Amino acid sequence: MTRYFITGGAGFIGSHLSELLIREGHFVESLDDLSTGTVRNIEQLRNSEKYRHVTASLCDEALLAECIDRADVVIHLAAAVGVMLVVESPVRTIETNVTGTEIVLRHSSKKRKKVMIASTSEVYGKSTDLPFREDGDLVIGPTTHGRWSYACSKALDEFLALAHFHEKKLPVVVTRFFNTVGPRQTGRYGMVVPRFVRQALSGGPITVFGDGGQSRCFCDVSDVVRAVYQLSTNEKAVGGVFNLGSTEEVTILGLAQRIIAKVDPKVQIEYVPYDKAYEAGFEDMRKRVPSTDKIRNLIGWKPTKTLDEILDRVIAYERNHEG
Ligand code: UDP
Repeated sequence: MTRYFITGGAGFIGSHLSELLIREGHFVESLDDLSTGTVRNIEQLRNSEKYRHVTASLCDEALLAECIDRADVVIHLAAAVGVMLVVESPVRTIETNVTGTEIVLRHSSKKRKKVMIASTSEVYGKSTDLPFREDGDLVIGPTTHGRWSYACSKALDEFLALAHFHEKKLPVVVTRFFNTVGPRQTGRYGMVVPRFVRQALSGGPITVFGDGGQSRCFCDVSDVVRAVYQLSTNEKAVGGVFNLGSTEEVTILGLAQRIIAKVDPKVQIEYVPYDKAYEAGFEDMRKRVPSTDKIRNLIGWKPTKTLDEILDRVIAYERNHEG
């Protein structure tokens, strides 16, 4: 049995990861300040003897140090995520993503504990070198456009994690999550799949930003947390950066149409210009596809769920959890 400590444990990915680890016979301690995570996400876990949740901030360093001390492996998921949140609360995003990771790495280093650092496909920025490989260039826009602070803050997290690995021999693994979706993800911070499903279930319209020609690859959270778990147990992953995502591409307009066909063909599409949806001068990624060669070669991982299955799962979940 391994004792895992998960920051951001009450978030969407954290709650699914906790469930998997407990199913695999491990112990999970979760820390979350419930800023975007919720108690509802972890309701089903709270009676388990193999689970403990603490509601606190990463900035409570004494508590954080205790949690890290008790753990065998630290999985740092706590972050401000979602482009809308980033545009609306840039100070909080930068501080949470940079300071939080710095504190987690510092204490893990003191206690010599293995750390998994969650990063994001956002770090590739507007690179057009597709599919994105882990050793490819990151192409980030100007500092006058707030959205790039997210990519930049997570890139700094990666640098800091790898610096701890090289300089202090701390075992770290960096995972770059591409668009991850599934039950319990909230659309409140902009994530497109739960937003479109909610909009369709409530009769529409579905808000497509831009012309809808931008594309994404959506990966089911169950596949993503399986990869994180497998990486956490693999010595060869240490010191590495791994893309984690699906390669099944869909345009955002295509996504809207698929959800409409599944939920209610009468639902309309409303096109919203980017300037109105986010902020003036907003730049979106036109295309985002991961190369998954690196993780496949190391642990044989590939996603098992198709976009159709993912959408069915999210629609069923949202139907049962309306309101
Ligand atoms: N999007 C959209 N309508 C919405 C929310 C998002 O058209 O109501 C678009 C968004 O502009 C982006 C894509 O859907 O092109 C994915 O957005 P999300 O925030 O889910 O993830 P991102 O890939 O931007 O990190």
